[in-house]
Amino acid sequence: MANKAAGSSSSTSLGQGFEDEDELMMTIKGSESGWVEARTSCDHLGSLSSDLSHIPTPNTPCNRCHHPSENWLCLSCKDVLCSRFVNKHMLQHYHHTNHCVALSYSDLSVWCFTCDAYLDAQVIMQLRPVYETAYILKFGEAPPFRTVELPQDSTSTKN
Ligand SMILES: [Zn+2]
Ligand SMILES: [Zn+2]
Ligand SMILES: [Zn+2]
Repeated sequence: MANKAAGSSSSTSLGQGFEDEDELMMTIKGSESGWVEARTSCDHLGSLSSDLSHIPTPNTPCNRCHHPSENWLCLSCKDVLCSRFVNKHMLQHYHHTNHCVALSYSDLSVWCFTCDAYLDAQVIMQLRPVYETAYILKFGEAPPFRTVELPQDSTSTKN
């Protein structure tokens, strides 16, 4: 696959910009294969727990194998389970219960197993409270929310 932004013309004056972009992406998310786009919508939030302001602390061990850290919080039943890189208990939980949305206590990312994608917890309103609670539990302060323009199309076009 050679779909890198290869310089179409051989003008070297555009080179610097690309380097900066790469670096920024690495900083935002250093996951396995580099930058992963987080979804800003998900159709599987209907089963989220209604009380996500009370969640287990980020150092809660896996409820199955007691793996001590970097576990996932099921946002439907608030079970704490280990990752696919440990004993896959969160993944098994999804297969057994269809609880598909989980929050990582290692980096506070939110994953939807059904979407097979990360969800942007700062944009999706249903996820913001639990993201904020988890952030406070982990870091002791509220997260620096970026200002988000909500996609509210006021369909009143001025004539
Ligand atoms: Zn486990
Ligand atoms: Zn669950
Ligand atoms: Zn989803």
